[in-house]
Amino acid sequence: MSEQMKSLEFDVLVIGGGIAGGEAALNLANLNYKVLLVEKELSIGGKMIMLSKVFPTLDCAACITTPKISEIARHPNITIFTGAETRKITKIEEHHFEAIVLQKPRYVNVTDCTGCQLCEQACPVSVSDQYQYGLVGRKAVYIPFSIASPRAAAIDIENCTLCGACERVCPTQCIDFTQTEEEFLVTIKSIVVATGFDLFDPLKIPRYGYGTFKNVITSMQMERQLAPTRPYNTILRPGDGKMPDNIAYVLCTGSRDKSLGNPICSQICCMYSVKQAQLLMGALPMADITIYYLHIRAFGKGFNEFYAQAQDMGVEFVKGKVGKITEKENGNLILRYEDIEQGKVQEAEHDMVVLSVGVLPNQGISDAFENKKLELDPFNFINQADILASPAKTSIDGVFVAGTASGPMDIPDSILSGGAASAETTSYLRRALL
Ligand SMILES: Cc1cc2nc3c(=O)[nH]c(=O)nc-3n(C[C@H](O)[C@H](O)[C@H](O)COP(=O)(O)OP(=O)(O)OC[C@H]3O[C@@H](n4cnc5c(N)ncnc54)[C@H](O)[C@@H]3O)c2cc1C
Ligand code: SF4
Ligand code: SF4
Repeated sequence: MSEQMKSLEFDVLVIGGGIAGGEAALNLANLNYKVLLVEKELSIGGKMIMLSKVFPTLDCAACITTPKISEIARHPNITIFTGAETRKITKIEEHHFEAIVLQKPRYVNVTDCTGCQLCEQACPVSVSDQYQYGLVGRKAVYIPFSIASPRAAAIDIENCTLCGACERVCPTQCIDFTQTEEEFLVTIKSIVVATGFDLFDPLKIPRYGYGTFKNVITSMQMERQLAPTRPYNTILRPGDGKMPDNIAYVLCTGSRDKSLGNPICSQICCMYSVKQAQLLMGALPMADITIYYLHIRAFGKGFNEFYAQAQDMGVEFVKGKVGKITEKENGNLILRYEDIEQGKVQEAEHDMVVLSVGVLPNQGISDAFENKKLELDPFNFINQADILASPAKTSIDGVFVAGTASGPMDIPDSILSGGAASAETTSYLRRALL
């Protein structure tokens, strides 16, 4: 252990502060266990905090997430590190793990920052905003998003010119360029891995033109446009700022495709696309929405009715595989697709295309385990060692998995899985007392 490294002790380390990790942390904290929640991003909340509304009820995602997030953030038994990484996890013996947690500098003292955004206004540097999925820009000093937790500024040092403008305007003098990385040696009795999922990168399918044709966007970019905390006040085509009136969805982009290395169904894309189509019909009442699909998988409670509701609202469903997208001079897009029901190749013009990108494993955390192997399944999600009888169990006794870290699932299932992981963790911790 290096001389500067501080030691910390908790009952449970939860890695990943999305809805699954948050649920697990909250349940354990309510049972009086001391929990350390480590999140790599600048805010907890995961993908859910960025969503618009949720299928199949169309409840506002932020309205469900924010009370839970603030309960987690204020809980006396939960310590949260954001912008932090977990490394070198070692199992010493049963009920005894050690991990190194690296806290990256934020260059802002979070406790003193009031979130006034004066620094943002003063900063002359603009870059693409990763939390708005590149739809708009942000400053080099920025609050990640309006409902972030903590709602405090951070400095993106790679793009900062060190001009000092933010320091000069900050009313609480909380900008601190002397901050450095801090390492902690953390001792815990058990671990919950809730590192979530990654989204398929559509640049891997060049024939769809993402990144080249500006009016081809991803489903997450459409979520941001539909969310109450959206970057524009309406739905706009990124190419020219026109309101679209004929939008296409391409389902299974990067899912169920062996040639792309992802043969499995992402489970959520059909339903989030059906949801977005309904929301778009409300936001743009004159717009036509067409969903190109292979199969609609509406398997959950209320899902089939939700799908039928979209059909009744006038969303067009075309059973067809999109082969190629080309762009016209006016920015409109021509979809060439195999019409499966008619058995022929067809073309259709749309003014905006949404790629319903699939769910991929968020790889990396298994490498942090040093002396015991956190096994992965054939698709690189965390392997559930006893999937039927004990779904939160992993290959390491005392390490449990929650949410989409073990495979694609929606929000209710992620919360259930977080609940299961906390129950299994409790039972493991209680065994130490027997
Ligand atoms: C476009 C879109 C729309 C959707 N709409 C709906 C919907 O309407 N209804 C619905 O039920 N579901 C919907 N979903 C699915 C929903 O987003 C997921 O079910 C849910 O976010 C899963 O939660 P999670 O906590 O497992 O993972 P995540 O939300 O991915 O959270 C994981 C967290 O772990 C953090 N993390 C990752 N690696 C590390 C690490 N090494 N160390 C520390 N932290 C780490 C991440 O930064 C993240 O904060 C949608 C998904 C998408 C993409
Ligand atoms: S010091 Fe960096 S973050 Fe602050 S205003 Fe200048 S460029 Fe922006
Ligand atoms: S860093 Fe200072 S200026 Fe920026 S939001 Fe925080 S308190 Fe306001």
